[in-house]
Amino acid sequence: MEIMKAITIKPGVKNSIEMRDAPDPARGDDNVKVKVLRVGLCGTDADIYAGEYGEAPPGDDYLILGHENFGVVEETNGNSGLRRGDYVVSTVRRPCGKCLNCQQGEMDFCSSGDYTERGIKGRHGFMAEYYTESPEYLIHIPPALRDVAVLLEPTSIVEKGIDHIYLIQRRISWQPKRALVLGAGPVGLLAAAVLRVRGLETFVAGREPSTDLRAQVAKGLQASYLSVDGMAITDLPGKTGPLDIVIEATGVSSVVFGAMQILAPNGILCLLSVTGGTGVRPEPTDRINQDLVLGNNVVFGSVNANPRHFRKGVEDFQSLEKSYPGVLQKLITSRLPWHDYGQWFGQKRTGIKTTLEISTG
Ligand SMILES: [Zn+2]
Ligand SMILES: [Zn+2]
Repeated sequence: MEIMKAITIKPGVKNSIEMRDAPDPARGDDNVKVKVLRVGLCGTDADIYAGEYGEAPPGDDYLILGHENFGVVEETNGNSGLRRGDYVVSTVRRPCGKCLNCQQGEMDFCSSGDYTERGIKGRHGFMAEYYTESPEYLIHIPPALRDVAVLLEPTSIVEKGIDHIYLIQRRISWQPKRALVLGAGPVGLLAAAVLRVRGLETFVAGREPSTDLRAQVAKGLQASYLSVDGMAITDLPGKTGPLDIVIEATGVSSVVFGAMQILAPNGILCLLSVTGGTGVRPEPTDRINQDLVLGNNVVFGSVNANPRHFRKGVEDFQSLEKSYPGVLQKLITSRLPWHDYGQWFGQKRTGIKTTLEISTG
């Protein structure tokens, strides 16, 4: 058995991260072997590192971390539709095999809860030299997107949310003009990017001052950045005008209840933040209910994504590179050699998106 390097944790054990030897996965007849070039880091990785969740694959006592990925095909057979040297991004979730949604390929809507996720739940991730995968879960990346494709997995989350905004709103004749994104982290900024591709006037609200790099990224997308530190969320429509679409991506649950009070008539609020805490707080429930009812408003949550949302992301990245060249690249503020993973895990997070550079190809 061949051996490779991988970054692993022991699920549920705080600070158990290490770089170790792991079996180099052998390619079976029906799958593809991929050499990992880089992975992106996010709050999910930090939570798994902190022992809050994460699950090892059956038979292993460790989990290879990493779900935001980019690699190059190393070995494949003739039937995969891919060739050696093709760039790929892998999707993350795999079906449970028993619920109706998973059986129809909609594993992001798994209803049994027994799905698996690479680098998160019951399947090894991508912080390793190699992985193998069935070609149906690999997204082919054009070489021109090589430097930004590691952003595709977080973008898929946003693509699903926005896809479902339009699907839900088929309930009425609806021509949205203006959108607000709450939160200027990677997900918030990627949401702003996709909304700009859809032709919406877009605002991004963040805590950071308007001199911050996040504001420059928003400006680069011809979106307006609002520095809202200390401002009431309910004051935002006074600055933006009526809001047809609001996307919440701050990671702070109290913001959600403010966001329910700022929608235009027939407006829709998409919730993308995962908030693992146990916080309890008073909210103006009469007012919130009244606003939602009288406004015919919709509030919905959205998690994970389907392979088609990754493919839509590739299409949108190509449009973005044409309309706003170089802006996506600005989201990646730090590229660490992967041996230096300790500079990110357990440290205060700075910048927008950090990647671990695993191989140059
Ligand atoms: Zn992530
Ligand atoms: Zn399922």
